Amino acid sequence: MTTITTMTTTDVRFPTSRELDGSDAMNPDPDYSAAYVVLQADDGSRGDGFVFTIGRGNEVEVAALAALEAHVVGRSLDGPDDLAALSHSMVGDSQLRWLGPEKGVMHMAIGAVVNAAWDLVSRRAGLPLWQYVASLTPEQLVDQVDFRYLTDALDRDQALEILRRAEPGRAERTAALLRDGYPAYTTSPGWLGYDDAKVERLSRQAVADGFAQIKLKVGGDLADDVRRLGIARAAVGPDIRVAVDANQRWGVDEAVQWMEALAPYDPYWIEEPTSPDDVLGHAAIRAKVAPIKVATGEHVQNRVVFKQLLQAGAIDVLQLDAARVGGVNENLAILLLAARFGVPVCPHAGGVGLCELVQHLSMVDLVAVSGQTQDRVIEYVDHLHEHFEDPTVIEHGRYVAPTAPGFSARMKQESLDAYRFPDGSAWA
Ligand SMILES: [Mg+2]
Repeated sequence: MTTITTMTTTDVRFPTSRELDGSDAMNPDPDYSAAYVVLQADDGSRGDGFVFTIGRGNEVEVAALAALEAHVVGRSLDGPDDLAALSHSMVGDSQLRWLGPEKGVMHMAIGAVVNAAWDLVSRRAGLPLWQYVASLTPEQLVDQVDFRYLTDALDRDQALEILRRAEPGRAERTAALLRDGYPAYTTSPGWLGYDDAKVERLSRQAVADGFAQIKLKVGGDLADDVRRLGIARAAVGPDIRVAVDANQRWGVDEAVQWMEALAPYDPYWIEEPTSPDDVLGHAAIRAKVAPIKVATGEHVQNRVVFKQLLQAGAIDVLQLDAARVGGVNENLAILLLAARFGVPVCPHAGGVGLCELVQHLSMVDLVAVSGQTQDRVIEYVDHLHEHFEDPTVIEHGRYVAPTAPGFSARMKQESLDAYRFPDGSAWA
């Protein structure tokens, strides 16, 4: 039996605002950050996880992680039953629950600890997280999911049916994934702080690198957006998908008007057109901007809101995030909901470490849940991977399936030391 003996936290921040990498209409100067947690077990095994933030407030997330210590230290962590119990214990803490419920700072901290626990268990099993999850039986997988608040859309039996349907093809799809990787798209050309020449150069480069989809940030100034989208469309030609992302900048009517102006350049999806809580607003926008697709999810706080977005027919593309909700357990629920409604999952990534984590979830979707990659792509942003021990690898516009054990979450010790806030050498 393996017991967690210590849990440590670190405030890690990268000064990305100096280069305007990651700039968009809502977030003009992010310093990509991680509230980082390490679980150590008595057999020497270790699991790492983190909450992604964009700078100020990372210390609040670190404090939220520390508030979970009593749920973690002293707990045994040997397999899927223990992972389900840990998730249940933290999400169900009646006093901490008051701070949400199941949303915001506390819920994100729970997600980081859950992810660290999955990192530890899959490392010990000698498998990359995606393959460890996909090695569990349909019964073990549904036992990870909290079906409370979901059963009007998805119950345990329906979830089992989805997983059993995918079971016979698991080995074939695993082999295909290891051979071919998983399709990616890139956001690197389109940050709002980049000038026209840089947008054009990076758009061309993306196509040359093998990407079939790029994404541009919009929502600052309409005339700028029309010009920039025109430049990108001309650079990539008619056959490459160009998505746009407003990062919640608009109200419903403004979103519709803005997209009418951009429509001549054939945007593939509009991402986060409005508040992530506005389920009916997304449905209204979707009805008016079709055939442009509506995508959201990186700020959707839990499985209950995703359920409503799907029930309301509000989204064409579901963008789950590895570090926003309650970790692997809740993301399994979200993958199952998406499969139930037949909506493709195209995860949010970028930031620091999100590509590393989220690739595993799409690979779980392919092998064990939806069983397909049709219209599914994982976001890719070429920043900060050098700080990870097992960084993502992109070849010809596709994520190469990780083979190292774990969740690819572990940051290099020298990076943790150098970017520790406020006393690391990068900040001194
Ligand atoms: Mg986005």
